[in-house]
Amino acid sequence: MITTERCSHGPKVRYPTRDEAETALLDCRIGAALRGNQRRREARTYRCHNCRGWHLSSSTY
Ligand SMILES: [Zn+2]
Repeated sequence: MITTERCSHGPKVRYPTRDEAETALLDCRIGAALRGNQRRREARTYRCHNCRGWHLSSSTY
């Protein structure tokens, strides 16, 4: 099972590897498309200096 980790400095989901973050990002995009929300977002993955994991940057930043 996948255990969801959180960033030590915030509510963001923490992914241990870039691959997992990229996969999660893809899932988000597919989910948005299925809901009819096909607006392009500047979402991407980035390395976190706080928890040394990977996060998704969303349009809220
Ligand atoms: Zn973090």
